[in-house]
Amino acid sequence: MSARILVVDDVPANVKLLEARLSAEYFDVMTAANGTEALAICRRAECDIILLDVMMPDMDGFEVCRRLKTDPATHHIPVVMVTALDSPADRIRGLEAGADDFLTKPVSDVVLIARVRSLTRLKMMTDELRMRAVTSLEIGVQAPERSAVADTGKGGRILLVDDRQSSYERLATLLAAEHTVDVEPNPTEALFHAAEGNYDLLIVSLDLNNFDGLRLCSQARSLERTRHVPILAIADADNSMRLLRGLEIGVNDYLLRPIDKNELLARARTQIRRRRYTDHLRDNVQNSIEMAITDALTGLHNRRYMESHLATLAEQASTRGKPLALMILDIDYFKSINDSYGHDAGDDVLREFAVRVRKSIRGIDLACRYGGEEFVIVMPETDLHVAGMVAERLRRSIAGEPFAIHKGTKRIEVTISIGLTTLEKKGEAVADVLKRADTALYRAKHDGRNRVVSQAA
Ligand code: GH3
Ligand code: MG
Ligand code: MG
Repeated sequence: MSARILVVDDVPANVKLLEARLSAEYFDVMTAANGTEALAICRRAECDIILLDVMMPDMDGFEVCRRLKTDPATHHIPVVMVTALDSPADRIRGLEAGADDFLTKPVSDVVLIARVRSLTRLKMMTDELRMRAVTSLEIGVQAPERSAVADTGKGGRILLVDDRQSSYERLATLLAAEHTVDVEPNPTEALFHAAEGNYDLLIVSLDLNNFDGLRLCSQARSLERTRHVPILAIADADNSMRLLRGLEIGVNDYLLRPIDKNELLARARTQIRRRRYTDHLRDNVQNSIEMAITDALTGLHNRRYMESHLATLAEQASTRGKPLALMILDIDYFKSINDSYGHDAGDDVLREFAVRVRKSIRGIDLACRYGGEEFVIVMPETDLHVAGMVAERLRRSIAGEPFAIHKGTKRIEVTISIGLTTLEKKGEAVADVLKRADTALYRAKHDGRNRVVSQAA
């Protein structure tokens, strides 16, 4: 999918120029002649990246940027300021407004395309995470956008990789005003250091002695533990071709020497904010995946997960010619626990029950809450005899020790009945196995409860 780039400029000739260059690289280009139009387009989520002119009548580019970055609906869209002004003060003003980068007019083609490509990759990744995180928003997890808009970008953990003492001493001192900084003067140690340190930002000098800083950046991108840590490259002004190469391999931003203090701080904050935001999105995705397969009360897997996973386990058992045991556990007279002590006491029993189940089974066994007070445990590579011993141990672990309710002020006896069977016939339907276990459970109940009944296939 090609990215949609919004070009905003009040001078039609400038718009046309950028439009032509971007179209030639197969980007979809949209245009706006002023800030108000641009904001409307962004709010309708119609663009992926904005190239924003600074000097415009009515609302200038700084103000447009500030509004985009403080609106939770648009704050994740990368903004590149296109400016004829090129003093550090202007750049800092833009970075403070939340800009992701600057291009100076006249805009060089190579720099333009490298920048837009790199920001496109970032935007696509963020979009993917945002999309997946929607599920967790629907179930009430707080929107990451809110905290992202409020994040100052300060208080980050930074690893600075630079082997020139005068350089790293100065940079570390500057950065230490807002962040915690570690310096790694030995480039061969840097990757290891970065992977161990849980950093929010790597700052890498590309002018290392006898070491290719870009190689380090590329390695950091491919290593699992550093893949998502932003990289800010630092290079001498005559090294700009290498910086473009850096953007291609995943460097997020760069600074040229001599380094301006405020610009360094502003760029570091931008990267750290972005890192925290995507981390937060990633956590949300993780949570929503967990929520979708976990029972909230007991923390065991839910029925939906069990049913899909059981099919896989059954197939594996068949193809490998191994037995698979399955038991259904049902708490005896659970309704009367609720009736006598209240629903909360019933919940306490269910939670404690799950704790004891977890202690009695192996990591590869699958335990799930099948319904109200009914549970299923699936045990790979386990025959009926061994499963029978496990079931008996489980039964005893419940009946043997009373359950605490009412915040530990009262203890009550709880027992369970278990129906047990195995899958042994190749290709037997999972539903039939469950049915057989259920029949065994029915017999356990009928025969007086607090017992295990096995039913061979
Ligand atoms: P039996 O020995 O035959 O299994 O009797 P029972 O009372 O355990 O079985 P029954 O199916 O009649 O009752 C199950 C009860 O479990 C009814 C329902 O209100 C209760 N229940 C289901 N889910 C929950 C829950 O999440 N929390 C609590 N406290 N009770 C629940
Ligand atoms: Mg019951
Ligand atoms: Mg029941």
